[in-house]
Amino acid sequence: MNTDFGNSYFMTLINGYLKEIPTNVVEINKDKAEDYFVNPITDKSKFISNMMISTEVNGEERYFIVGKLAEREMFKNEHIRTLHDKVESIIPYVMFLASIAEFQIARTEENREGQSEEYHVTVDYFQTMLPVWLLRKASKFSDMLNEMAARFQGNHIVQVKTPGLERSIHIEVQQSKCRIEGEVARWGLKKDLSLEDNPVADLFQKVVTVIVDIGGGTVDIVVLPPGLDSPRSKDSLTTLTDVAYLKYLEKFREHKLLEHFSDVRELEDFIVRNIGRTEMAKKDPITQQVTELKEPISEMLEGYAATLLKKLEGEIRDLVKSEYKFLYIGGVSEVLREAMRDVVGKKYGEETFEKQHIFVENARQMNLIGLEVISLSETGDFE
Ligand code: ADP
Ligand code: MG
Repeated sequence: MNTDFGNSYFMTLINGYLKEIPTNVVEINKDKAEDYFVNPITDKSKFISNMMISTEVNGEERYFIVGKLAEREMFKNEHIRTLHDKVESIIPYVMFLASIAEFQIARTEENREGQSEEYHVTVDYFQTMLPVWLLRKASKFSDMLNEMAARFQGNHIVQVKTPGLERSIHIEVQQSKCRIEGEVARWGLKKDLSLEDNPVADLFQKVVTVIVDIGGGTVDIVVLPPGLDSPRSKDSLTTLTDVAYLKYLEKFREHKLLEHFSDVRELEDFIVRNIGRTEMAKKDPITQQVTELKEPISEMLEGYAATLLKKLEGEIRDLVKSEYKFLYIGGVSEVLREAMRDVVGKKYGEETFEKQHIFVENARQMNLIGLEVISLSETGDFE
C-alpha cells in the first residue's frame, strides 16, 4: 500500500489499484453520527462518496466523515489556508483507515447473512511520504521520517459506520516506511511499473535535474545530480514560500471573478476541466448567461508562471553550478505547461522552453509512482 497524503487529494495505490479521495476530514459526535444518513447505503461502490468511520484514539471512540461527504461540512476555502502537519495531525491517519475500509468493501465478495461482520486486512508493505517543508523543521530528517512510519506500523481497528455497510476491520501493517516527497519521484522517472528503464530519464543523464513539485499549497524543489541520482545533501531540498498556487488563485478570484465563482475550489475545478480548450465558457446556473473566461484565466496563469520562474531562478542560483533542466511534477504542473511555454518563450525563446523545461505525463501521481517502483522492486511482487 502506497499513499500520498496530499493537502488537496489523498491518493493511494493498493496492489496497484489507484484511488483518489479529496482530503476532507470532519469529526462529528456519536449522536450526529447515528442519524446522519437518511437511508442505508447498499451499493458498495457508493461507499467512497459516503464514508463514515470511527476508531479508538487514547481509549475514546471518535467518529469521522471523510472525503466527498465531508466537503459540505468544511469551510469551503479551508484547504488553502492551513497546511497540516502530517506527523501530528489525525487527518492522515483517518484517511489511511478510510481507504483501507474502501478497499476491503470494494474487493471482498461477501454474503452478509450468517457471515461475521469482522474482517482482517494485512498490509505487507506500507509506504508514505513527508514534504520537504515539514522535514526541514526537524533537526534530523530520519527522526521525523521514522516517527511518521511508526504511526502506521502494527495493528489498527476501524469501524465502518455508514449504515448498510457496517463492519469492523482489523488491520495489520507488517512493514512501514516513510520517504521524502519530491525525492521519491525520481524513481517514477527512472523506471516504469514493469521496472523497465523509462525513456524520459535519458533527458537527464548528463545534466543536473531540478525537480519542481507544484502542489496546491506548496512548491518543493529537489536538485539531483546527473542521471537522476540521489540528492547530495539536505541543501538540495528546499521549499519556495509565497508562491502557493491556491492563494494566488484566490486573490485572482476576489479581484476578477467574484461574480462567477463563489469559492476557490469551484474555480480550481473549472480550470482543470477546461485547460487546453480553445474556449473556457462559464454558464451562470441561475441566469443561464454564458461568459467567456479564457483570456483572464490564461493571463492569470501566465502571471503565476512568471512569478514562479523568477523565484525558481533565484532559488537555484547557489545550488546549481552546471547545465540543468527543470522537471515539473505535481497537480498544478498539469495546468501550467502552456503558460510556462509562453513565459519562457518570451524571455529566452521557444527552444529554451523545449530543451530546459520538461513536463511529464502523470505529473500528479509521480511521487506515488515512485513509491510503487520502490515497493515493486523491494518485494519482487510484479509480473
Ligand atoms: P497537493 O500535493 O498539495 O495535494 P497536487 O499536486 O495534488 O497537490 O495538486 C493539486 C492541484 O492540481 C489542484 O489545485 C489542481 O489545480 C491541479 N490539478 C490538475 N489536474 C487535476 C485533476 N485531474 N484533478 C484535481 N486536481 C488537478
Ligand atoms: Mg503533493
